[in-house]
This record gives sequence, structure tokens and C-alpha cells, in this order.
Amino acid sequence: MQCPKCDAEMEDVEIYNVIVKRCSSCKGLWFDHAKHEFLKQKKDADEIDTGGFCIRKSIR
Ligand SMILES: [Zn+2]
Repeated sequence: MQCPKCDAEMEDVEIYNVIVKRCSSCKGLWFDHAKHEFLKQKKDADEIDTGGFCIRKSIR
């Protein structure tokens, strides 16, 4: 899968036991509506959207 924004390659990232797609270039997150509703309930969802949380998670 490629990023709808910049056409870069997407990678799987696990957040709260949910697998989502993240762009390796712009760090945009892409997931279906159900997952988005689930993640919005988490208090640090805004931090996830910046990509910072995902970068740390994927390195570990
Ligand atoms: Zn992108």
C-alpha cells in the first residue's frame, strides 16, 4: 500500500494492540473508521497523530 498523500510506502504499526498503516515519509496514519473511533477514546491520540509515538514504538 502507498500513502494517499505522498505515494511513499506504508508500514504496519501497532498501537494499543491495533494494527494501523503509517507512511514512512510523512508519518501520516491510515486506518478504518472503527479503529479510528477506538483510538480517539485514548487520551494521547493527539500524540499518536503526530507520528512521534509510532516512531518510538516501531524502533523498539
Ligand atoms: Zn505520506
